[in-house]
Amino acid sequence: MPHLADKNKCNGCHACYNTCNTGAIKMQADDEGFLHPVIDNEKCINCGRCEKACPIINPPANNPYEESYGAYAKDETIHKTSSSGGVFAVLAKETLKNGGFVCGAAYTPDRMVKHIIIDKEDDLHLLQGSKYVQSTIGDIYSKIKDLLSENKKVLFSGTPCQVAGLVSYLGKDYDNLITLDLICHGVPSPWTWHLHLNEISGGKAVTDSTFRNKTQGIHNVTLDYYLSDGTVYQEKYEESPYIKAFSQNLSVRPSCFECKFKGYKRCSDITIGDYWSAVEYNPKLVQDNGVSAIILHSEKSKPLFEKYKNLFVIENTTGENISLWNTNINNPAASCENRETFFYDIKELVFSQAVEKNYIEPVVERISVIRKIYGKLIRIYQKYIN
Ligand SMILES: Cc1cc2nc3c(=O)[nH]c(=O)nc-3n(C[C@H](O)[C@H](O)[C@H](O)COP(=O)(O)OP(=O)(O)OC[C@H]3O[C@@H](n4cnc5c(N)ncnc54)[C@H](O)[C@@H]3O)c2cc1C
Repeated sequence: MPHLADKNKCNGCHACYNTCNTGAIKMQADDEGFLHPVIDNEKCINCGRCEKACPIINPPANNPYEESYGAYAKDETIHKTSSSGGVFAVLAKETLKNGGFVCGAAYTPDRMVKHIIIDKEDDLHLLQGSKYVQSTIGDIYSKIKDLLSENKKVLFSGTPCQVAGLVSYLGKDYDNLITLDLICHGVPSPWTWHLHLNEISGGKAVTDSTFRNKTQGIHNVTLDYYLSDGTVYQEKYEESPYIKAFSQNLSVRPSCFECKFKGYKRCSDITIGDYWSAVEYNPKLVQDNGVSAIILHSEKSKPLFEKYKNLFVIENTTGENISLWNTNINNPAASCENRETFFYDIKELVFSQAVEKNYIEPVVERISVIRKIYGKLIRIYQKYIN
């Protein structure tokens, strides 16, 4: 019987599921709504492939840290319709134009999130935009392996643990694969997303939604929900019960509290995220639709990025600069004392009530004030030593 990662360490990446060729592994939701592998002893032949593919048991080697940028897409439509600076969509569009395939997270008809593969620019909008819900990988890794073996170019985008899962599953590098991971806060439970949607829609179908409507600027984003009766429901980001639970780690996966896939050096080719501290280090880049942070990790990513650099408004920066106001680049999700009661309460209470009961408001406000003061102090110190 194989010994996979302990339940609290398993990140649900599906590498074991994809590698098993006897169908002995099923992914099943636990009582918090997170998918975990379950092994059927009758079908398991003890080949050990699943243990080898697990990125928790066998973490893939990191690429050496190369260089960092702050950037946003020159293409205004891409910039406006992306969560941040539109780096993903620019790279994805170029991959598709060159006959390649792009894999990323998309909504299912019932507004859950899963990874899909696209080969047309018309479908790019399905992958754009952050969906703050753990995405289901399904059998995507094995489909990617098939494409790579046919010499097709593939751009894979996902959370750091999903990229680690893919790299581990593949077991070797492919010249025709580029992996792009996110600076990641942690992944919330799909069940909490389902409960939140049910509450705000009053049981009506949600036909469309966005986590970051940037029309009032990146610092005033709203979550928008389009209901089947034509109603549009809008929540301010900081007032949304779903975002409150996410931001305070009430709803994130247990493995996120000890995430192994953080840091400036990663097994991915490229890391992207929000460059909040551009205001400190690259103020010319700052504008209403957001600026992205980019870190190139592999030799392979350098010529690719060089080729497409002219599609961005771009400046050099460093990983340290990016991390000033984005500590999630290095730190796993901070532990959360009310998490257990929160998951108990969502079974008993309306979702927003369970959040209100367990959310600790003043701490978050204090952290953001402390962060701003800390940023100013660092800036003064750096000016002083220069
Ligand atoms: C769960 C989660 C947590 C995040 N936490 C942080 C953070 O703490 N700090 C930070 O700087 N940035 C974070 N991000 C990333 C950020 O929201 C932007 O996606 C990123 O800045 C890239 O912006 P973009 O404009 O280039 O691309 P976007 O238009 O945002 O493109 C989104 C890309 O992310 C992928 N994606 C979207 N949702 C998911 C998902 N659920 N699972 C896997 N991949 C997904 C899509 O496939 C697509 O490739 C997080 C994203 C997610 C999904």
